[in-house]
Amino acid sequence: MADALVIFKPDSAYRLAARAGIWGWLSSEREWRIESLEWFQPSKQLIEDHYDFLQGRPFFPWLVDFMTALPVVVGRITADPQGLGLMRYDLGETQIAKSRPGSLRERYRIYGGLNCLHLSDAPEAGAAEVKRWSEFLQLDQLKARLDDSSEKPDHTYHLRSLATQVASGIHVDSASKMMRELIAEETDLEGEKLEALWRITLGALS
Ligand code: ADP
Ligand code: MG
Repeated sequence: MADALVIFKPDSAYRLAARAGIWGWLSSEREWRIESLEWFQPSKQLIEDHYDFLQGRPFFPWLVDFMTALPVVVGRITADPQGLGLMRYDLGETQIAKSRPGSLRERYRIYGGLNCLHLSDAPEAGAAEVKRWSEFLQLDQLKARLDDSSEKPDHTYHLRSLATQVASGIHVDSASKMMRELIAEETDLEGEKLEALWRITLGALS
């Protein structure tokens, strides 16, 4: 059995319908087991190490802000290598334009690096990631409870359309304003936390 790290990134941890949809999939434990789940706000250093292979890429400062701005849901999964491969297949490709129709990322991600879920891509990566995060988390208990349904609306496709406009410089002000309203409707965050979710969302479009 291989260990793998799973993270509900802020764009799925707080967009409640997206979170419920992804949790519905994860909690089916089809060919994997959820060994732990908890809320945790990673430090900048931890994220810089976790994504060290992306250091120097233009989006790296945004990626670090994205992953450290708010607490996220972190868990450990066990699966055999084939089960982990199936999970990555269900998740879909990293780039939105390439993500397989029906995959979680095609269904819930908004734009660019806002792609909802981290999942170790192979047993070796999973072992290394679990070792690194174990310095900060026990990864042995189900402490977070997530719902598999939500009364909040799911505006993914509308948000994606507006995000494409903003990123292309088309109707930037009105499209951003509408995105902000839709994001607020999808979450129950308020105040500074809602501002942080908005900042990292907008940051992905520049
Ligand atoms: P995956 O999450 O599919 O394993 P990678 O490990 O290659 O993908 O990248 C880690 C994360 O970095 C991605 O999930 C995404 O959030 C971000 N990322 C990768 N490439 C880009 C990019 N070109 N633009 C913006 N963000 C990116
Ligand atoms: Mg990866």
